[in-house]
Amino acid sequence: MKLDILAFGAHPDDVELGAGATIAKEIANGKKVGIVDLTKGELGTRGSAEIRSREAAASAEVLGVSVRENLGFADGFFKNDQNHQIEVIKMIRKYRPEIVLCNSIEDRHIDHGRGSNLVSDASFLSGLVKIETKFKEEDVFQEPWRPKWVYHYIQWKNIDPDFVVDVSGFMKTKMKAIMAYTSQFHDPNSEEPETPISSKNFIDSVNYRARDLGRLINTEFAEGFTTERHVAVRSLGDLI
Ligand SMILES: [Zn+2]
Repeated sequence: MKLDILAFGAHPDDVELGAGATIAKEIANGKKVGIVDLTKGELGTRGSAEIRSREAAASAEVLGVSVRENLGFADGFFKNDQNHQIEVIKMIRKYRPEIVLCNSIEDRHIDHGRGSNLVSDASFLSGLVKIETKFKEEDVFQEPWRPKWVYHYIQWKNIDPDFVVDVSGFMKTKMKAIMAYTSQFHDPNSEEPETPISSKNFIDSVNYRARDLGRLINTEFAEGFTTERHVAVRSLGDLI
């Protein structure tokens, strides 16, 4: 299956929080999108790997993604090394996306910046013909594939975006996808310990950030991204 966009996240829910509305919008525009979670989030204070994988599947359905996979890397301890890069390359070559989305370049959770570097490096390496990989399911070599664009969504820290996407009309879907992670986010009836992301303040901040980025481009909501390359336009009037 060929995808247009492949979104990676260190933990299930990273992609929804960072780029959920953009993904919902791209899907509404006919694009095929997949999500690959690097870990099962097994070190999370609330919930468990099993609960989170059920929640991730429910959330994927809300967004309408074509596929969601989990690489099963060690939460908190995976590395940006050859072994991990090869596993990410296999996913990129399997789905051949034009666009790769990945974690924030730098963040409070140490997995985010590391996951970002890992996916970014693997996106480059995936285009090198002499790195040989095989499909997991069959004994067949994969063709090299380099995505045209790698964009980093924004997570905990307020990183200045290089560009923003107008996601007006898609915030409801994003919030619904996030709230599919019932173990992680604000629930007044939960008896699990409070975490930085389980407060009402956090969920409000997700909505507020989208409103604020929207305000700056004169739309209702927006999501921001950074990129390691220049943002290019075909003419001066192309920006909205
Ligand atoms: Zn995370």
